[in-house]
Amino acid sequence: MSIVLVPIGEVDGKVLEFIGQALERTFGQPYSIAPATPLPAQAYNPYRHQYFSDLLLRLLEEVEAPGAERVLGVVDVDLYTEGLNFIFGQASLRGRDAIISLARLRQSFYGLPEDEDLFLERAVKEAVHELGHTYGLGHCPDPYCVMHFSNSLADTDVKQATFCPRCSQALRLSRRKRSASI
Ligand SMILES: [Zn+2]
Ligand SMILES: [Zn+2]
Repeated sequence: MSIVLVPIGEVDGKVLEFIGQALERTFGQPYSIAPATPLPAQAYNPYRHQYFSDLLLRLLEEVEAPGAERVLGVVDVDLYTEGLNFIFGQASLRGRDAIISLARLRQSFYGLPEDEDLFLERAVKEAVHELGHTYGLGHCPDPYCVMHFSNSLADTDVKQATFCPRCSQALRLSRRKRSASI
């Protein structure tokens, strides 16, 4: 079983590799990077200048990835879902697929000088967080746990890229249950 990263639209290959390596360490599974698929025009909302995340997630669900335990879509455009101004990512709870957006993780998005290390760190946290949801984990009250909800990047920067003991255990149980049911 593996984790497959699917770039949707133009995404920096070095960033994908960095995320993949971190996921490999965190989830103990090899990663691979699928060929990029184009951003679907119908997911773009010209009034909001954003892409509708739900539609991208549905398209991901149709991606064939034999041997993939998890599929992570990565976009470098701004995402939204109904009722929210923007989202950093989205996951199908207890499903195979999740998606993250890199657009709001750069300092330059906020008119600040770029910080590549900080950007990569944020990308990894969002990726681990969304994959955590696919294993059925909800949001965690511990502000340092990767499953803590990020209302803003300030929250993302406080939390670590790792699971707190409680979430680690929930993750282990969820993955054990899954392999037992195969
Ligand atoms: Zn979440
Ligand atoms: Zn936690």
